[in-house]
Amino acid sequence: MSGKNLFSLIPKVDDLLNNTLIMNILNDFPRVTVVNSIREEINLLREDIKNKNITEENINERLEKLPHLINERIKEKNSFKLKRVINGTGVVIHTNLGRSSIDKDIMENVVNISSNYSNLEFDLEKGKRGSRYSHLEDIISEITGGEAAMVVNNNAAAVMLVLSTLAKDKEVIASRGELIEIGGSFRVPDVMEQSGAILVDVGTTNKTHIWDYERAINEYTSAFLKVHTSNYRILGFTSSVSIEELCELKMKYNIPLIEDLGSGVLIDLSKYGLEYEPTVQESIRKGVDIVTFSGDKLLGGPQAGIIVGKRKYIDEMKKNPLTRAIRVDKFTISALEATLKLYLDEETMLKKVPTINMLTLSLEELEKRANTLYKKLKQEIDDQSMDINIVDEYSEVGGGSLPLEKLSTKCICISLSDLSVARFEKYLRSFEIPIITRVYRDKVYIDMRTIKESEFDTIVEGVQEALSKVKGVL
Ligand SMILES: *Cc1c(COP(=O)(O)O)cnc(C)c1O
Repeated sequence: MSGKNLFSLIPKVDDLLNNTLIMNILNDFPRVTVVNSIREEINLLREDIKNKNITEENINERLEKLPHLINERIKEKNSFKLKRVINGTGVVIHTNLGRSSIDKDIMENVVNISSNYSNLEFDLEKGKRGSRYSHLEDIISEITGGEAAMVVNNNAAAVMLVLSTLAKDKEVIASRGELIEIGGSFRVPDVMEQSGAILVDVGTTNKTHIWDYERAINEYTSAFLKVHTSNYRILGFTSSVSIEELCELKMKYNIPLIEDLGSGVLIDLSKYGLEYEPTVQESIRKGVDIVTFSGDKLLGGPQAGIIVGKRKYIDEMKKNPLTRAIRVDKFTISALEATLKLYLDEETMLKKVPTINMLTLSLEELEKRANTLYKKLKQEIDDQSMDINIVDEYSEVGGGSLPLEKLSTKCICISLSDLSVARFEKYLRSFEIPIITRVYRDKVYIDMRTIKESEFDTIVEGVQEALSKVKGVL
């Protein structure tokens, strides 16, 4: 049959609207979505006939699949663009997958606050206008030991606000070895420029000494900035200036010391077998004037930038007009307050803050999970073309935190014989609840550290569907 005649085989929109499958769909979705999806699938078929060598045999196959393809297109059109996914990558603080997830019990507080009115900016005692920054100040001070605190949209905004308040049109001294870039285009020199502060970089890439800082001090110096180079390490012939040394220097000259800690850990992680990461408490105790850190990295809360330190500086920041542009909303405040409350009791926190929980899982627990999922997969999928194993692997902390840390873990490893692993992985990603995995040497890895038991059944379904699709059955 010639190309032209193949076009005549394409059904009309009305014909498809009478198809039983499509008629059922019409009960659940708006007619306009259904009609548009039919048109789009028909156009796609037309394009394929025009551009590809579609044979008569092929076209029948395509025509048979057409209602299903339309069905999938409708579902896709109607689905949310921001979706919940299953993180099988083993990267705990995965910035692309939303960094830290938040426990349902904490979200209850968010639902309660945001589906009702709240005292967001109302002083219940005085019956007058209050400040949204007051709700978190006491608890942050209590946990960190700082005099005062405030919270803004994220840590990038926090650094910007601190510099803009303390150092606009004045000089800030920072080490060259700490002028970092982190993902998502946060670069210390650029943030500095945006804030209006003038960067005076001292030392070299690998070595900075205390006298580098001291030599750079002049009448325009307004602050020292120390940045925790959390996302990389320079190894070998290196030296950086410690917080203690900088504190001594800043006391001598009476110049404030700002520290961007990045990850912002509030507990000593080395107790749980991880590498020691400087805590916020430690910086405050040593005398840093202002510390900034993220709410959704190692703290395990919502996206936020937390500023803690000397009251006189924080009070100035609250008055900075920039604050209005980067203020936090009630969702963030309620989620962060509930998360921070957990930190008052470390035992509870370890269970209830998912990020910390995942980072401190025991190998026994990971192995138990792997066995359960392995059994489920084996039970449901009996297919010669798929090989499933439990393997030893490493997870990552992610979020630019503890870059050298390798966390021993257990993965479900799937290999396929004579089928495309790349397509299999893609089908897992396009599953109703997308399953994000790691592909390495032509095998798919699902890390037990970042998935929950409640997600196992979905994973089994997803693997089944992806296998059928890659075999061309679906
Ligand atoms: C992650 C990070 C930031 C940016 O924090 P966000 O909360 O993503 O805005 C800034 N500085 C350092 C050192 C970081 O690690």
